[in-house]
Amino acid sequence: MKPVPFAHSRPAKLTEISSALDADNAKLIAGGQSLGPMLNLRLARPSTLIGLSHLTELRSVRLDGATLFIGAGVTHAQIEDGDSDVDLPPMLRHVARNIAYRAVRNKGTLGGSLAHADPAADWVTAMTVLDAVLVIANGREKKRREPMSGFMEGAYRTKLQPGEIIVGVEISAAMGEAHWGYEKICRKVGEFADAIGAIVIHPGLQYARVVAGATEGPPILLNDIARAIARTAKRPALEEIDAALAAHLPGADRVKRQLLKTALSRAIAKVIP
Ligand SMILES: Cc1cc2nc3c(=O)[nH]c(=O)nc-3n(C[C@H](O)[C@H](O)[C@H](O)COP(=O)(O)OP(=O)(O)OC[C@H]3O[C@@H](n4cnc5c(N)ncnc54)[C@H](O)[C@@H]3O)c2cc1C
Repeated sequence: MKPVPFAHSRPAKLTEISSALDADNAKLIAGGQSLGPMLNLRLARPSTLIGLSHLTELRSVRLDGATLFIGAGVTHAQIEDGDSDVDLPPMLRHVARNIAYRAVRNKGTLGGSLAHADPAADWVTAMTVLDAVLVIANGREKKRREPMSGFMEGAYRTKLQPGEIIVGVEISAAMGEAHWGYEKICRKVGEFADAIGAIVIHPGLQYARVVAGATEGPPILLNDIARAIARTAKRPALEEIDAALAAHLPGADRVKRQLLKTALSRAIAKVIP
């Protein structure tokens, strides 16, 4: 099947996005890796597609003081290659390298992935464990900021309002020195995750986060587990991880919980061997 006919525009400024989005049933397109198939299947039928490739701010990677900004239009491949003037935290490069395969990574973008909010996507979990903040614009007013934890409201649902665009994400630059573990379980290389376990510890900042991802909804922050690790510097017992998962995901079946438990324990073992 082919898409319904649509108009196409590529604004050069963020402020032009809002008027473009005012068009009835207009939609943003970044790498097209998720939207493309939806167009072909006619699950999405926009009248106008607004391409983001001419917006230079969306491709910026820069340090603003102690904050690392990564533009929404930066591709997975650019992150994988460390293709920027600023050093990227090693964890980001690891995560990018394990998304899909290179052809998808060449086109797919950070912002497209966060906006699409597939529960099994890697960036929604990685940006949650790094306590990232999204910079969001609507083209008219000032930009607003939204913490990644809480941004995703459910599968394919976010706090983005009509007419809003993700400009990029902000992460503490200190995350470049953090200890981290990221374990993605999938049946074949290049597939979406069946389960993700992620941990980031920065003793100097007293920062400890543990996240279960690919949960069929938003990523889950396991704060009790993170606090126990920070306090004892010991790996939690599998039973503790299982109990935390059962408390947060009472509806998850046993297979899902087992996969998440395995992903989390492997991720934690990378930080506390
Ligand atoms: C075969 C295959 C395997 C894949 N495997 C994985 C995987 O293992 N892990 C993983 O994480 N992902 C995977 N993906 C998804 C991939 O990472 C996509 O790149 C991503 O989901 C969407 O990014 P995009 O730039 O292509 O967005 P698009 O497809 O262009 O857009 C997706 C949605 O986001 C909106 N959007 C795009 N940019 C913005 C913005 N800046 N602000 C607001 N809204 C925006 C669009 O309107 C659309 O609704 C896979 C995709 C394919 C095709």
